[in-house]
Amino acid sequence: TRAHYLVGLIGEGITASLTPLMHEAEAAALGLEYEYRILDLIQLRKRPEDVGALLAEANRLGYAAMNITHPCKRLVLDLVDELDPDAERLGAVNLVVFEAGRLIGYNTDWMGYRDGLIAGLPGASFERVVQVGCGGAGAATAYALLSCGAARLDLCDVDRTRAEELSERMRSHFPTQTIAPVGAEGVAAAISRATGVVHATPLGMLHNPGVAFDVSLISKGSWVSDVVYRPLETELIRRAARQGHPVLDGGRMAVGQAYASLQIITGEQPDRDRMERHFRAL
Ligand code: NAD
Repeated sequence: TRAHYLVGLIGEGITASLTPLMHEAEAAALGLEYEYRILDLIQLRKRPEDVGALLAEANRLGYAAMNITHPCKRLVLDLVDELDPDAERLGAVNLVVFEAGRLIGYNTDWMGYRDGLIAGLPGASFERVVQVGCGGAGAATAYALLSCGAARLDLCDVDRTRAEELSERMRSHFPTQTIAPVGAEGVAAAISRATGVVHATPLGMLHNPGVAFDVSLISKGSWVSDVVYRPLETELIRRAARQGHPVLDGGRMAVGQAYASLQIITGEQPDRDRMERHFRAL
């Protein structure tokens, strides 16, 4: 434990992030002196490629850790001295811990999503899952779904090469599970056959409303999960719930990544339920 924790978040367009509030409230409840700062690349007039210089400076300034978000999660893979094996397999870093001057990269997004699946969708079938969106969040959800034993995972993205690349990466780590990229022509059929549907595109966010696929295609009893968490009740979540599907909103993943980050940074045991209640009251 440190006497005082200085932590930050590097990304673009993050000035309204709820992550500082989540960390600081829970750290205070744990009796820690903890300060969480936002380093918005746009505000700082920096480019994504400047993340390395910002990390080096944070290290010099005595930061305990730095969360990393869009668009730097992949860039940071090559900038750390040591990579957690899951972060390496998944191919993205959202947490850098400064340990005796060394940079250690982790990914807590997938842990947050995994924990959310287990707690928020108990008994969910992972027989046949379809995921729409294969960017940063999608890499974490795919890794979590396969770690939870998804027997078949169909991966869709308007950018076909993203679905193909993620499929290839996941296949190399989960060789006994079926992982397939699905082109635009196959999305409807994949959704209608799935026992679970995961949405991981930015559609449905406050300033980006809409739904990425036809919700009425989802078969009866199948579960639906959204990574978007602002708002918590996206149009997808609202319509899926109205159709009677078990739903998991993006809040669990958001809280779960903060919970796991705080635990790794401090070595303390945060109270997940308290964090969840606090987040939902924000
Ligand atoms: P990203 O840009 O890395 O990836 C988005 C992907 O979606 C891209 O590959 C894009 O081609 C694809 N896409 C866009 N529109 C599509 C459509 N209509 N159909 C199919 N594919 C489409 O973005 P990201 O960092 O993965 O973020 C995605 C969302 O996830 C954002 O809303 C972000 O806020 C959210 N997110 C949530 C959490 C959480 O903890 N809940 C964590 C990370 C990101």
